[in-house]
Formats: sequence, structure tokens, C-alpha cells
Amino acid sequence: MTDNGWYAKGDLVAVLTTQPLDRCLDYAAPEGGCPEGAFVEVPLGPRKVLGVVWGPGAGDFDRARVRSIDRVLDVPPMQAELREFLGRCADYTLTPMASMLRMATRAPGLTDAPSMRWVYRRGEGKPERMTDARRRVLATLEEYGGLAFTMSELSATAGVTNSVIKGLVKQGVVVEEATPRDLPYPRLDHERAGLPLSEAQAAAAAALRAAGKRGAYGTTLLKGVTGSGKTEVYLEAVAECLAAGRQALVLLPEIALTGEFLSRVERRFGARPAEWHSGVTMTERRRCWKMIAEGGAELVVGARSALFLPFRDLGLIVVDEEHDSSYKQEDIVFYNARDMAVLRASLCDAQVVLASATPSLESWANAEAGKYTRLELGARFGAAEMPDMRAIDLRGEKIPSGRWISGELQRAVEARIAQGEQSLLFLNRRGYAPVTVCRACGHQIGCDHCDARMVEHRFQKRLVCHQCGETKPMPEVCPKCEVEGRLAPVGPGVERLAEEVVSLFPEARVAVLSSDLFGSARALKEKIAEIAGGGADIVIGTQLVAKGHNFPLLTLVGVIDADLGLQGTDLRAAERTFQLVRQVAGRAGRTADRQGVALLQSHQPDHPVIRAILSGDEEGFWRAEAEQRRVVGMPPYGRLAGIILSSPEIAEVFDFGTELARRDGPLREVGAQVFGPAPAPIARVRGRHRLRLLVKAAKGVALQGALTRWIAQLRVPNNLRLSVDIDPQSFW
Ligand SMILES: [Zn+2]
Ligand SMILES: [Zn+2]
Repeated sequence: MTDNGWYAKGDLVAVLTTQPLDRCLDYAAPEGGCPEGAFVEVPLGPRKVLGVVWGPGAGDFDRARVRSIDRVLDVPPMQAELREFLGRCADYTLTPMASMLRMATRAPGLTDAPSMRWVYRRGEGKPERMTDARRRVLATLEEYGGLAFTMSELSATAGVTNSVIKGLVKQGVVVEEATPRDLPYPRLDHERAGLPLSEAQAAAAAALRAAGKRGAYGTTLLKGVTGSGKTEVYLEAVAECLAAGRQALVLLPEIALTGEFLSRVERRFGARPAEWHSGVTMTERRRCWKMIAEGGAELVVGARSALFLPFRDLGLIVVDEEHDSSYKQEDIVFYNARDMAVLRASLCDAQVVLASATPSLESWANAEAGKYTRLELGARFGAAEMPDMRAIDLRGEKIPSGRWISGELQRAVEARIAQGEQSLLFLNRRGYAPVTVCRACGHQIGCDHCDARMVEHRFQKRLVCHQCGETKPMPEVCPKCEVEGRLAPVGPGVERLAEEVVSLFPEARVAVLSSDLFGSARALKEKIAEIAGGGADIVIGTQLVAKGHNFPLLTLVGVIDADLGLQGTDLRAAERTFQLVRQVAGRAGRTADRQGVALLQSHQPDHPVIRAILSGDEEGFWRAEAEQRRVVGMPPYGRLAGIILSSPEIAEVFDFGTELARRDGPLREVGAQVFGPAPAPIARVRGRHRLRLLVKAAKGVALQGALTRWIAQLRVPNNLRLSVDIDPQSFW
């Protein structure tokens, strides 16, 4: 290799592939040579696979049998920064490198040669005759705001045949164009003026801009109550980053939020940014990936996996709603995008902004310890603070069975309807009823594959397992005692609450917001826009509503069961309840002239968490919570790792777990302790028996090395799956 990282033809290089091998493979550099980091196609057995030139070859392989790289792909090489990030992330999460590379190359057609293609967009004309199919095509093109589609994307999205589209092309209603497959995104104008900022916002924005100017790593916790204008503030940091010619990434916890956010970016910078999440088409995905690598995308708005994109020069990562649990991936690769964002930024001299109204205890503690800068946006922009919050003590209420809305809450809703204002009733339970019980024998209907009760979804007319997604029709007779007509719902879900609302307020317009009631992110987005425009008097919602949607007419929030989250044995039960209820309550009264009200129905209004929520003494809550964790050595004052074992064979999983726990030498060497094995709270999922072990260590212990040595002592049987979850967030 030469000094500038170039390998000449025939040089031995190590290639990391996306195949499940535990090492890089040696290949010879191809005709014309290749740079370090090059994306390549290499022969592996009879196949050709994608890989990246990771460094010089190991040379521990018969030279005569080393094969040559087939070809170098026409995309910029992976930068040293991203290669180091993938390596560090793999080490931290104990993930094989091949899986990391798969995460970083999740774009279709990377191995295809760049070429032209036909795309279709809205033209000027009107159809000679409007049909249902033609109307769907036009509606699809309009919904995506001028984006071009390929024939297959357009026909699939609109649900029409190709001939319908070709007919519209003939009439000039749809225009057919040949374009290079992947085009740069429109430039964002970072010099455009933003919205006028309040004094607090301006001060925070100036601090973020100054941090950005330094061009070095730093993390800022941007804390501000709902409606305090955090977005405007961090968009100033984005402007600073773009002005420096660097790229910015904004992570959002929920796809449904992207639409609203993209519009804000467009208002601020005059064009839409690149998008990266499960809702974008495959064509757009590849374009996004390539343009990020080439520098043709300045700003990316995306889900957690956007963190693994091949940025050319990443200068800023914003993690919005940083406390949100959806940043933690608990499948294949177990990682927390919030923490990995900080890692990546530290490797590429970027700034991180963690934005939240209710930060995670981890981030709060890092700010307390001086590792993160803390910026606070106190008062709401142009409005009063949090809503007026009160508990409704359910112990003194006589609510008829099968009903959940107290008299006081009912009267409050009535008053809002009379004033033309909106109310939100919050219940974090999807479906109609969480339990279906037989009144004859007491049997509760469970999932056949999991240790979980089936949840009735009356809207879909099915019972659904929230663990594995299995559904079945509601039976007529009890599966246990076979008595007919005695199956009854127990407890409320949002659909059942909606029934109660309709009977209590027959004149009101009611909207239910629950993720499972919408076929697509777009349908949900439309519903949210309709509600925001005044299309409902009463909104019933799950935690979906806690995530940053803006409903200007909403002045009352009723939390149906404020105790719900407190019942778990989860380490973060208190923290989550505090965050969720504060977030939901914060939805009330965002307008300037109206003070919102939040009413919390509770059976334990004296519980410390409920009292902290009501008093609004956030610092007090965090300090008390932090102290409790410190005393018992729990995160962030200690380290945890979860080991999840699963197998179709119950004996096998128990034997393996017990043996693993017994041979805890490598853990004891670093002072770590192992607890378990114990059946996981959900002990059977999709027919697999699940067992958990928990490893606990002091802060600062090099836990990953000890875990690797510990697990390597045993051979994992074929049937058995072993996953390691570093810093577990959930314990199911
Ligand atoms: Zn029965
Ligand atoms: Zn199930």
C-alpha cells in the first residue's frame, strides 16, 4: 500500500464482507488498483458478494489461491471514520462486524452500475375522462409533493396497472422522463432568516452556533418543555453546520413525525432534506445513501439506522426526543442510537444535540457530571409554562363497571366541547381490551406461541398477540370449557374507551390515534393534520400522541390511568411514567391565550412519581431517582448487560443457562456478578422458550471483554439463540 491508502494491482488486501464470517478475507487488488475503504464485489465460493477494503491483507493464506477483487463499485470509498465507528460499535455491542457492515450498506442496488431510468411525475394536463384508477395515480403524485416515481413504484403505490399510467402519459397528464438514477438533493439555503426567536431561544441558539463553529466534538443536552421551541433552536445549529460546508443528521423517534418536520425544514431552508426511514421507497433509499456518500445531501432526517450512513463530512447529529425508547434497537444488533450518536460524533469531530422535554436519566447525569453542556429553554415560546396539573383520586370515585372516565373528567370534557376546544384522553393500551376472560370457567385467552394474553382488537375483529403479532378470530365458545357466549372483555384499551366516550358525549366528534388503526404512516399523518385543523372534539390516543404532534386547539388532557406504567418491575418504570405523563400533559394548552389543564386519574395520587409529575419539580425527581440508582449501583451509576437465551427446547435452554451462570469466572475476575438464569417475563415467544441472565458490574469496568471470554467458554447449540444486550432498556 502507498502512503495515501492506495493498493496497486495484485496487492494483498483484507476485505470485510456482509457474509457471516468472523474475519476479513484476503483478496488481490484488481486491475487499476483500489483505495482503502473501497466498496467492492468479490467472489466467495460460487457467489459474488459485497465487501469493503478494510486494510492490508493478513497474508496467512496460500498466496496462489488468493482470488482477485471482481470490481470496485462506483461509489466513494468508506471513510476511515465510518470504519472506525463500525468497529467501535461492534466492540461495544458485541456484534459481529459482518452485521455492522450490513447495517451500513442497507441500500438496494449498490452493486448496480449507474444508469438512466424512466421516471414519472405530474404534468400539466387534465385527463380526458376521470376514472377511479386515474384519480388514484394523481392523488399519489400529489401526496408525495412532486417526487418522481418509477413505473413499478407508481403502479404499486396507486394500486393501478401500468397501462393506466401509460394512458395518462399519452394525454400529457403524467410526464415520462429519463434521469440519472440518483440525483443530488436541492441545496438548502442556510442564510435564510429563521423564525423570530425568544430571548431564551436566541441565547441557546447562539451557544449551539458557537459550539458548532469550533469544529470539534461536543454534546449538548437541550432541555425545554413541550412548545418551548427546541426545534427552531437546533435548526440554528443545523444552519451553522451547513454554513461550514458540513453535513447534518436529525434523528426522529417516529416516522409519523417526519412529515411535519420536513415542512419545517423547507420553511427554514427553502428545500426539503433527504429522508431515511422505512417509509421511503427503495429508489429513494439508494439515492439517499449515494448522495450522502458523495456530498449531494446536506441534511438527512431519519430513523435510528441513519446513523450508519456513509456521510462524507458529518458535522452535527441532533437526537430529537432523546429519551424515547425507540432509539434502542433490540433485534439482531442491540444498540442505542442516542449513545452511538455520541460515539460517532466523537470520531468525526461533530456536535451532538440531545433534545428533550424530559431527558433520560443517563443524559441528565452526564450533564450533571459536566460531560455534556446543558442548555435550558424555560418558559414556552409566547405562552405560559406547563398546564395546570391535578390528580383525580379514583379511590373516592364511584365509576360504574366497564367505565373508566370519572365524573370530574367528564365535566371537564363537556366544558371544552362547549367552548369549541379539544380534549385528549390518554390511555397507553392499544386494542379494545387487554384481557378476554371466560365468565364460566375463568380461562383467559392466551397466545398459542407465547406466554402472553391475546388482546382483543374489535376494529380488526381479531384477537392479537402483542408479542409475536399472531392473530385469530374471536372465538364463539371458550377454548377451555367450551361454554358458549360467556367470553367477556376485561379492562380498557383505546377502542373500548372510544365506545365509552361516544356514549358519554354522543354529539362530539371523536378520533382515535393508535398506531395499529392506520394502514400507513401517510394515513396516520393525514389524520393528525385533520385533528390539528379542528377535525375532532375528543382525541383518544396511545403513546403515539406524546411524540411532538402539535394540536393548537387542545386545552385539556385527561390521563385515564396514570398508574399504568408504575406497575412494572422495570428499572425505568418510574422514569418512563414520569416522562410519558409529562409529555402527554404538555400537549395541553399550547396556545398563547389559553391555560391548559391536565387531569391525572390515579389510585395512588400520593405515589412519589405522581407527586413529582404534579408538582413539576423535575430536578427534584431526577435527583431522587439518581440517588436511588446510585445506592444500588444501577445505570447510569453501574453497568448492566442482559443475556437472552431462547430455544424451542425448554430443557436445552435451562441447561445452557445454568451452565453459563455456573462458569462465571471471567465475570468475577472483573468484579461483575451474574444473576439468573430466570425465565424471561415473557417466557415463551413464537414457540421459543426464553431465559434471561443479568450481568451487573461497577461503572468503568471493561465489561465487554469479560462477557466475550465468559460466553466463549461454551459452544452454543444450533437450536439455541444467544443475544447480548449491553445497557438493556427493557427486560422482557
Ligand atoms: Zn370457559
Ligand atoms: Zn404470541
